[in-house]
Amino acid sequence: MASNMGKKILVWFRNDLRLHDNEMLVEAVSKADEILPVYVFDPRHFEKTQYHTYKTGVTRTKFLIESVASLQQSLQAMGGNLLVLQGNPEEVLPALVVKYDIAEVYHHREVASEETAVSLRLEDALWKQKVNLKHFIGHTLYNKEDLPFPIKDIPDVFTQFKKKTERDAVVKPCFPTPVAINFVSLEDSGTIPEIGSLLQDSTATMLKIDTAFKGGEKEALAHLHEYLHAGEGIVLANATLKKHEIVSKLSAWLALGCLSPREVYWKMKDAEANYGVRPYFHQIVLGLLWRDYYRFMFKKYGNTFFKPQGFKKDGEPLALENTSALQHWKNGQTGQPLVDACMQELNTIGYINQVARQLVATYLVKELEVNWVLGAAYFEEQLIDYAPASNWGNWAAVAGVGNDQKLANNFDFEKLAKILDPKGVFAQVVRA
Ligand SMILES: Cc1cc2nc3c(=O)[nH]c(=O)nc-3n(C[C@H](O)[C@H](O)[C@H](O)COP(=O)(O)OP(=O)(O)OC[C@H]3O[C@@H](n4cnc5c(N)ncnc54)[C@H](O)[C@@H]3O)c2cc1C
Repeated sequence: MASNMGKKILVWFRNDLRLHDNEMLVEAVSKADEILPVYVFDPRHFEKTQYHTYKTGVTRTKFLIESVASLQQSLQAMGGNLLVLQGNPEEVLPALVVKYDIAEVYHHREVASEETAVSLRLEDALWKQKVNLKHFIGHTLYNKEDLPFPIKDIPDVFTQFKKKTERDAVVKPCFPTPVAINFVSLEDSGTIPEIGSLLQDSTATMLKIDTAFKGGEKEALAHLHEYLHAGEGIVLANATLKKHEIVSKLSAWLALGCLSPREVYWKMKDAEANYGVRPYFHQIVLGLLWRDYYRFMFKKYGNTFFKPQGFKKDGEPLALENTSALQHWKNGQTGQPLVDACMQELNTIGYINQVARQLVATYLVKELEVNWVLGAAYFEEQLIDYAPASNWGNWAAVAGVGNDQKLANNFDFEKLAKILDPKGVFAQVVRA
């Protein structure tokens, strides 16, 4: 169309590292003559926090690098590329706007404060260039506008949120994966950094990397397929598997957006049509609802989830000291075998299941009486699937300072230990 002649849109990828079900990409392809896909490694994501932890540890850094590389390969297979740069996006992107004569910038909006602050600063910088920053919302199973309540009225009690959402909202179909894209031509597509150049002291921790998780959209879709189809055989053959043992392990791909929650939902529905209703299908949807819930709660309450006192009006929060008890917990050397086994697993592969997370968090907060914020910051460093709302929301709930007080009684160390390890088997395999 004449009015669109030469229109170039910069598509800024963040935690949406995929081609499937990506509204931002679909719209950019339809509205622009050429698109410029960009990923920016932001050095602030690899800095130390005020709690003596790193914002991103080595396992997630590796997973991120693989995910960006996978997206780059997919775009190269379509005849284009992903421009990969390092720096503060609010400075890097306006410079690209000038260099490539960009008409508009597209990105996905986030919910946590640091991410939204970057969006705002970028919006201001682009505004001065008379260029619009368009926001998309594509991280949740249910769209915000499809919920039966405005954000400010979303029920704080999860069970109410779940009941009303499942009753009154629908899961939208996925956006189609683009089949052809016109790309802005690039002289140089930049370089994907090495782990060592992003992390300050990666050498010691590098030795610990031992993860079966590989980042990227292709791996995510393959893992989903395997879980839904091959998983059927496994589940039927192991009728004794406990509910908490039937887990998808999709969280890392979901956190970086290598996988869309809607894709998971609709692929699960296909599998259900083949095999009939299965408890492990329901389990995934329940998980995705928890994920949505915490994201919407972050939207509703902002930074309250990051504060030691959380939603509690009374009581003094514990000190934020780096005690030896905290250090032992981090290293998996508390002397409590199950806690130690879980923490060593976390330190090695960046993943432990939901019950194990609840168990080690409960132990830190209730047995060791350490401020929960220090545990949450350590999880932020170590988890391969770290997502601000899911991590800080769940931690606040375990610590009893969340906004759904009904959850506060769910966390009893002995009960959790019995669920996780009824025969004490796991506790015996503590690594030396
Ligand atoms: C202290 C603590 C910290 C946590 N931090 C994170 C985090 O940083 N990132 C993260 O994705 N999850 C976090 N969780 C939630 C949950 O433990 C993981 O999502 C889950 O273990 C991932 O395994 P899975 O993919 O096999 O989950 P499944 O049971 O197969 O669930 C499917 C998906 O639903 C989502 N999900 C499931 N349970 C929850 C939940 N309670 N809250 C939010 N989302 C959920 C995940 O995206 C998951 O991949 C945390 C839980 C606790 C108790």
